[in-house]
Amino acid sequence: MTAGLTDVYGRRFPYLRLSLTEACNYRCSYCLPDGYRADGRPHFLEGEEIRRLVSAFAELGMYKVRLTGGEPSLRKDLPAIIASVSSVPGIRKVAMTTNGCLLPRRLPTWREAGLTAINVSMDSLDRHRFHAITGHDRAGEILQGLDLALTLGLDSVKVNAVLLRDCNDDELPAWMAYLRTRAVGVRFIELMRTGDNQAYFERHHLRADALIEQLQRAGWSERARRADAGPAREFTHPDYRGSFGIIAPYSKNFCHGCNRLRVTARGDLRLCLFGDFGIALRPLLQADGDRAALVHRIATQLGLKEAGHGLHQGMTGLTPHLASIGG
Ligand code: SAM
Repeated sequence: MTAGLTDVYGRRFPYLRLSLTEACNYRCSYCLPDGYRADGRPHFLEGEEIRRLVSAFAELGMYKVRLTGGEPSLRKDLPAIIASVSSVPGIRKVAMTTNGCLLPRRLPTWREAGLTAINVSMDSLDRHRFHAITGHDRAGEILQGLDLALTLGLDSVKVNAVLLRDCNDDELPAWMAYLRTRAVGVRFIELMRTGDNQAYFERHHLRADALIEQLQRAGWSERARRADAGPAREFTHPDYRGSFGIIAPYSKNFCHGCNRLRVTARGDLRLCLFGDFGIALRPLLQADGDRAALVHRIATQLGLKEAGHGLHQGMTGLTPHLASIGG
């Protein structure tokens, strides 16, 4: 075991975001508005490759893995993947980001397999708005799924809501009412520009500053950030069981706290969500005997990680939409 991955800017990386598939069954207006279309016959990482990959990262001191996509729950072998990732020595947290479509039916199985945390994407509490944004009238089921997650006692239950000008930017009071009795973290994510969503971004991007002011006026206060926490600024209030998080990738110094690396569903290491190159790890995932070479490739390539993304200059790198890399 090494002391952990540290880059030239002194940032540490306890956290891997691993995409299991590029496919998604939703048509979110800012991500895949026309639905997922496979490019050829993609062949995503298989169970054994995933085990080898996660074992190498764990050897480098990584202890938190988030399964994402595309929609990770579309993988039929998801319970086996969760079980295998959670049994890798050194892995303490196995989280998943999902659109929640299968939560009510499958969450107990995922939990039993070793899932410790879940983030569910829900851009609006209003059923009609939710339908308009995602293409699916399933807000009710997702709310049921979230309550189930609380009942099953996962370590962390969060909601991701992308903040969209003129679509859902007036829902803070409704979310506050939701959080009064539920230990859920609702995180507003500023809309990010990607290769495919330029016009949409111009229409709907909104800075989260006004939301933060609204929270502070209502008595919510900011709390200190944990070492393996995401980039969210977190706000709590003594009268509420839940909390709010604000993820503002366009804010100053956002990348200073970067603590994660990504691997795509095709096995490319991505050092930044908006980087312009990937590092192929798949050739080193074919045999257990390649472990030392794999660990070496990950550790040396980290040297290429830049201080920050180029989103302010409109540079979206290789990312046409977040489903392609694992958002
Ligand atoms: N399918 C899963 C889901 O719906 O959560 C996981 C993948 S999805 C790409 C991960 C997260 O990225 C979701 O919360 C989604 O809302 C967010 N997302 C996608 N495109 C985005 C964008 N352009 N800006 C900000 N967040 C985005």
